[in-house]
Amino acid sequence: MLAEEYDVVIIGAGPAGMSAASILAEHSVKTLLIDENGHLGGQLWRGLTEQPDSSFRFINSSNNKINLLAATGYRNGSLHIHETACVLGVFPENYILLSSKEEGIIEIKAGNIIFATGAREKVRPFEGWTLPGVMTVGAVQILLKNHHVLAASEMLINGAGPLMYLLAGNVLSRNGKITALLDRSSFTSLLGTTRVMGGQLGKLGQGFSSLGYLIKSRLLPKYSRQIVRAESKGDRIEATTVEISSDGTIVNGSSQRYKTQLIAMTNGFVGNIELPQVAGCELDYSSDKGGWFVTVDSSMETSVSTIFAAGEITGIAGGDKAVVEGQLAALSVLHQLERLSETDFGRRQKALLTKRKQYQRFGTYLNRQWRIPAKEWETIADDTIICRCEDITIGKLRSWIKAGFTTSNVLKKATRCSMGNCQGRTCGPLIYDILAACVPAGETKPFSVRMPIKPVPLGDLVPGEVM
Ligand SMILES: Cc1cc2nc3c(=O)[nH]c(=O)nc-3n(C[C@H](O)[C@H](O)[C@H](O)COP(=O)(O)OP(=O)(O)OC[C@H]3O[C@@H](n4cnc5c(N)ncnc54)[C@H](O)[C@@H]3O)c2cc1C
Repeated sequence: MLAEEYDVVIIGAGPAGMSAASILAEHSVKTLLIDENGHLGGQLWRGLTEQPDSSFRFINSSNNKINLLAATGYRNGSLHIHETACVLGVFPENYILLSSKEEGIIEIKAGNIIFATGAREKVRPFEGWTLPGVMTVGAVQILLKNHHVLAASEMLINGAGPLMYLLAGNVLSRNGKITALLDRSSFTSLLGTTRVMGGQLGKLGQGFSSLGYLIKSRLLPKYSRQIVRAESKGDRIEATTVEISSDGTIVNGSSQRYKTQLIAMTNGFVGNIELPQVAGCELDYSSDKGGWFVTVDSSMETSVSTIFAAGEITGIAGGDKAVVEGQLAALSVLHQLERLSETDFGRRQKALLTKRKQYQRFGTYLNRQWRIPAKEWETIADDTIICRCEDITIGKLRSWIKAGFTTSNVLKKATRCSMGNCQGRTCGPLIYDILAACVPAGETKPFSVRMPIKPVPLGDLVPGEVM
């Protein structure tokens, strides 16, 4: 059977993918928008088509809902949408393999591909971070946004960046209790926020709303504090925290303990670069961009012609940058398809690139707040788990690195780290940081990736009855 062909296939229906889709749909370009999530909107605009819980605040941090609505309005026209399909791999000449809930495994062909696969959360590991009762802030937010459920009536929030304040506001607005709000950034480093917030009125508004709840609840955040151990104590969890200095060393005698119901931790994001990686797109590494990212030119085109990338995968910087990059990628495709004049393209591209620069500055600032200094990695106890699928501790990794196993791929072969169900999505970014801390001049490369890039049931691959 011949693969169905589209002018453009967009993989990922978050802010980047949605804004690209809405521009292409306006110009009636035959486009397929794919997402595995079962709803449009990605991590930020989760399922906006559904009625939000009216008592819930600060859900949609961006004003760009219009993109979502515009795109879904074209659903039955030139824009085709697969909301429950996971892309498993990309082959030469833009053949794409996907596992669709409705149609099983199918192959499609794209004239152009826009990768907009977004990001996942990164943790700062500590003893006990894999215990029940410890979650990421993003996971707590997903429960709130998708299911309107508060993960616990009382929680301690630790990490860095704006999401922890947003969550605190959400919890307090739902009459939940915050045991403590512990920011690992120093108070002085936070003063830089105002310098990078230009053009982000939506975010400022959210920040002030959250702050309002903190003031009303008399909740004062504590700065430069990091959890170093979590232990189950009956139906509670105990967190041991310390003060950390800016170079990552622990301040002597600064230990403090808290008992709570749930620990919510946040330490930034890393891009989902695996699909562009299998498609042969060039990657680069920068801690200011959140780790490995897909390199693009000013048209958002990757090193592979006709393949574009937009959003968090070109460098972590938030939803506004994702929207701008999705628009840039769509305009570039239109220009290449000769559906947009040179002058129109040039004018719109210039304006969007200026905005992008502004949002990238915000991204650099955030990624620096989330960075774990090399000295801090040294303080992490040997029996702290790094690869939770295969139970590999930091102590084990350190001893293999000392023995000369100094690249991610040889560490994987030696220890089985990243060989579990998540295929290194959680431990990978930590292992890159540990290697960078232990072998600063060492060779860096992300784990190699093979298709299918996500686990797929055998029955889907072999249609018919499997004995
Ligand atoms: C758990 C989590 C919670 C977050 N919460 C907030 C928040 O509350 N406020 C905020 O300002 N920012 C939040 N962020 C940051 C936010 O994700 C980004 O700023 C923004 O959503 C980036 O847009 P994007 O389009 O690049 O990616 P995303 O919004 O992440 O969208 C990417 C989409 O690609 C899809 N996808 C990925 N791989 C495949 C595949 N192989 N096949 C099919 N589909 C695929 C995903 O399902 C996803 O829907 C959160 C991030 C995460 C990871």
